[in-house]
Amino acid sequence: MVIGVLALQGDVREHLRALAECDALARPVRRPEELESVDALVIPGGESTTMSKLAVEFGLLEPVRKRIAGGMPAYGSCAGMIMLATNVLDGRPDQRGFDGIEMTVRRNAFGRQVDSFESPVEITGVEGGPFHAVFIRAPWVESVGAEVEVLGRVAGGDAAGRIVAVRQGNLLATSFHPELTGDLRLHRYFVDLARAAS
Ligand code: GLN
Repeated sequence: MVIGVLALQGDVREHLRALAECDALARPVRRPEELESVDALVIPGGESTTMSKLAVEFGLLEPVRKRIAGGMPAYGSCAGMIMLATNVLDGRPDQRGFDGIEMTVRRNAFGRQVDSFESPVEITGVEGGPFHAVFIRAPWVESVGAEVEVLGRVAGGDAAGRIVAVRQGNLLATSFHPELTGDLRLHRYFVDLARAAS
C-alpha cells in the first residue's frame, strides 16, 4: 500500500515525514502517472488557490477527482481540507477543488487578525487526549451533508463549537496541521483507514 502526497505546493515534506514515521510507504505525486501508482492521497496544507491553479496546470485536477469519486482514501489538512470540499466560501471565483466531502468550508475563517492560533481539539476515534491543534489562516466547516461525520470542534474561545475535523467514508479532513506538531495519531488513523480500504 503506497500513500501519495500531492506535491504541487504546501507542506509536502512534513506529511511525507509523518507518514514514514507511521511506517507507511509514502511518495510525492506531481504527475498523473504518479497518481496512478498510489493507493491513497494526502493533500497538504498550503494555499488552496495556488494548489487549485497548479492542479489544473499539471493535469491533475480531473484525475484526482476521478480517483476520489472512485473511492480512493484521501486526507486533507487545512488547504487540503478546502481542496476536498464540495463548496468553498470566500474562495477565488476560478478556484477548483476535488469535490470529495459534502461540506461547505469558509477560507481564512478565523478572522484576518488571527493569522495563527493553537487550541486543544478532541477527535472522535482518536484516543490519548486532545490534539494540540495548530491553525494557520485556517478554514472552518460551516455545514456538512448527511454522510459526513463531524470528528472535532474547537473547544473554547470565540470560535468555540466550530467544526474543524470531518470524515466522509474514506475521506478525512482537518482545518489544522498535525504534520507540523509531531503528533502522529491522525496520520496513523489515516494509514489504518487506507490499509483497510486497499
Ligand atoms: N488560507 C489557506 C487557503 O485558503 C490555507 C492555509 C493553510 O493551509 N495553512 O488555502
